[in-house]
Amino acid sequence: MTPLNLVFLGAPGAGKGTQAQRLKDDFDLPYVATGDILREAVREGTPLGLEAKGFMDSGALVPDAVVIGLVGERLEQGDTEDGFVLDGFPRTIEQAEALGKELAKMGRTVTAVIFIDVGDEEVVRRLSGRRVCVKDGHSFHVDFDPPKHDDRCDIDGSRLIVRDDDKPDTVRNRLRTFREKTAPLVDYYEKAGVLKRVDGSQAPDEVQGRVRAVLATLRLEEKV
Ligand code: AMP
Repeated sequence: MTPLNLVFLGAPGAGKGTQAQRLKDDFDLPYVATGDILREAVREGTPLGLEAKGFMDSGALVPDAVVIGLVGERLEQGDTEDGFVLDGFPRTIEQAEALGKELAKMGRTVTAVIFIDVGDEEVVRRLSGRRVCVKDGHSFHVDFDPPKHDDRCDIDGSRLIVRDDDKPDTVRNRLRTFREKTAPLVDYYEKAGVLKRVDGSQAPDEVQGRVRAVLATLRLEEKV
């Protein structure tokens, strides 16, 4: 089967991570989230983490060269042979071009970019109520997806916290960064003919249904 090289695009809080993770149940593809990789590096205090922390805490992007190198190395690992799901990368035109070149080396292209479209107000509402577990970053929401016990992860029992970059000032910066740097990718991938727009304003199950419908059409296109 042709590899399924998928990218999830969307504002912070649009639900990219939630949807990309759910996709794991449908397709057994490696999930590569640059935000998760960077947060782990920060937790472990590696040189990458030390470099990335300041940018992340202020809601800015980590420099392109750093993130591009990281994703390039990851995609060259053998387990991406049947495809992958990228979450949070690319986030700039330069990153998108680098991804294109990396895939071209393997004789591949981006199969589809799923753009989860959500308005700013909804993003702020979602991020301010988001809680993640310290162990694995499992995500909950105080109103929409509350954990069974207030401050514990349902999945692994670890403590739930507010991500540093979900604090209001940082959220505003992240949204500004998204508009300036990442939103142009919508046009970029539309022109490339691979953009699939999904209304992300509904509950996760409904959005998942729409994502599934998009992926089903991809599989059909492949058979034609
Ligand atoms: P996320 O979990 O995807 O919202 O990412 C959290 C933070 O990690 C972002 O606000 C950025 O500071 C950094 N980050 C994640 N992915 C990228 C990327 N592709 N390019 C630059 N910075 C990134």
